[in-house]
Amino acid sequence: MKELTDRIKENGRVLGEGVLKVDEFITHQVDPELMDAMGKRLAEVFAEKKITKVVTIEASGIAPAVYAAQALKVPMIFARKSKSLTMDEELLTASVYSFTKQVTSTISISRKFLSAEDNVLLVDDFLANGQAAKGLIELCQQAGANVAGIGILIEKSFQDGRQLIEDMDIPVVSLARISSLHDGKVTFIEEDA
Ligand code: 5GP
Repeated sequence: MKELTDRIKENGRVLGEGVLKVDEFITHQVDPELMDAMGKRLAEVFAEKKITKVVTIEASGIAPAVYAAQALKVPMIFARKSKSLTMDEELLTASVYSFTKQVTSTISISRKFLSAEDNVLLVDDFLANGQAAKGLIELCQQAGANVAGIGILIEKSFQDGRQLIEDMDIPVVSLARISSLHDGKVTFIEEDA
């Protein structure tokens, strides 16, 4: 998606260890117009899939997921990374290793929000090694829900996430695909969604 790749070229910053910082417009300060356009684009791509819920993980998945859910006219659920005192219902839980924070956390969603009738679109800001997506897939599987697809804003294609998800026969669509982050420079795979 040209608006996103242009914005990454303008405001993205490459940190060491293959990490891209996009806190000007996605992960800290949010550009609502761009986020709205990206949510709509993901909704368009998955329009034929009869999605009933959009599911993501806090914190930076929430913004794209809510715009995608609004465009699809379905609810959005975000998995929590720490248990809230108000979560007194039965929980679906999975362990996720965080690529950027280098810690393992237990993610959870209240069981009442997902069921075997649901056809889920997973949305996240980044796809790196696929651990966040894998944890969200596990939560959906525990509820008996079907994962119809995964919509990602920025895929780091030099990491293993896409392969991991495709091996589970789940379609992955990324709005920007990065082939390398060498020498402070972002290189894109050209056929973006
Ligand atoms: P994965 O689980 O696919 O390895 O990593 C995905 C999660 O790690 C995303 O939810 C995202 O928050 C974070 N992440 C992975 N790579 C990057 C990156 O290069 N930059 C930023 N800002 N976050 C990242």
